[in-house]
Amino acid sequence: SLCFLLCSFAFLSLPLFHTFISLLTLFLGDVRVRSRAGFETERRGSHPYIDFRIFHSNSEIEVSVSARNVRRLLSFQRYLRSSRFFRGITVPNSSNILDDDYNGQAKCMLEKVGNWNFDIFLFDRLTNGNSLVSLTFHLFNLHGLIEHFQLDTMKLRRFLVMVQEDYHSQNPYHNAVHAADVTQAMHCYLKEPKLSESLTPWDVLLSLIAAATHDLDHPGVNQPFLIKTNHYLATLYKNTSVLENHHWRSAVGLLRESGLFAHMSLENRQLMESQIGDLILATDISQQNEYLSMFRSHLDRGDLCLEDANHRHFILQMALKCADICNPCRTWELSKQWSEKVTEEFFHQGDIEKKYHLGVSPLCDRQTETIANIQIGFMTYLVEPLFAEWARFSNTRLSQTMLGHLGLNKASWKGVQREQSGGGEDADPAFEEMDSDILPQEPRLS
Ligand SMILES: [Zn+2]
Repeated sequence: SLCFLLCSFAFLSLPLFHTFISLLTLFLGDVRVRSRAGFETERRGSHPYIDFRIFHSNSEIEVSVSARNVRRLLSFQRYLRSSRFFRGITVPNSSNILDDDYNGQAKCMLEKVGNWNFDIFLFDRLTNGNSLVSLTFHLFNLHGLIEHFQLDTMKLRRFLVMVQEDYHSQNPYHNAVHAADVTQAMHCYLKEPKLSESLTPWDVLLSLIAAATHDLDHPGVNQPFLIKTNHYLATLYKNTSVLENHHWRSAVGLLRESGLFAHMSLENRQLMESQIGDLILATDISQQNEYLSMFRSHLDRGDLCLEDANHRHFILQMALKCADICNPCRTWELSKQWSEKVTEEFFHQGDIEKKYHLGVSPLCDRQTETIANIQIGFMTYLVEPLFAEWARFSNTRLSQTMLGHLGLNKASWKGVQREQSGGGEDADPAFEEMDSDILPQEPRLS
């Protein structure tokens, strides 16, 4: 069978193995994705996995790849990823064996999980790469969700491990550490007085699950890339919130598979799935203007009533949006690391687009863009407007801290920019192209 064939080849040297895979890709195209005879059945049906190693110039394989072949490679990678057999080879098994000392330090950190200075990178190292599982499990406990919803802790752990595994650790930015960071930020927002007074356990449950899964199975490229490479997800979701829809549906798949809420009524489970969807879909940055103007008019009218479940859920959407783009509101040490990671992911996409003549996406060209320009544009057009409104809604010490870091970090990047260009540079105009409707609220700084 095909399985046997692959097994035999797996023992050959890596270059040969790669060549074999590319040959298979060329010959079989999409067929293997549909008929997986001989392969271990996999729990999830689809992955938008794009293994960039296959594109790297130092890779052993140098098949001439047209845009058409890129499509084939994508679908093959999806197949590769969904085979446990291959996974076993490429993904090291992150076991739960923790050094006692590290374990102790991680536990110590969790006591301060509500601090805005929480160092998620350190926590991830201390937990041996299990930050998302450890942090989310801890938060479920802290918020009394395990008791309130009578959750089976084994099922909960299994669910969280599956969530963590479905993030791509090869992505410089959109990986499980980002998800853990967003979940930690969400926890900080849930603790804010206005919210903590009015939220129900159900709201907290949805918020934490949505935060932990909001970028699930992210391929490390953006929606325009998926559209121009005719990725099946772009077709499936009709080129609209393609990634966010996929994150949501992947989360639903894992929720169902884990049976974590099997003891709840079907009605409640369906409600949960759709409300998690509303939260995750709100993280589509291209929709920011719609959410922001709604938020602004509520604040202008002063008509937000948190006893109203609809209003609470709208605020939770805004909170998740803030958590998702709060990197510039962290301390410089943390914020800078995130900036480097996200730029690395953008430039990586740009390199591939260049190599395969796909047209380089905005912000993705390492020849013309700088990390400072990208950050200043991001802060000016997306982060500042959002956090200014959030501070109007929740004018607390945390909001002031976040705005304080935002100002300082922007000044730091401007300093970097001045050093690099000798002054005169402005925020990245690519953000204007991306969502020009956001601009009117924020005067351009020059
Ligand atoms: Zn995200």
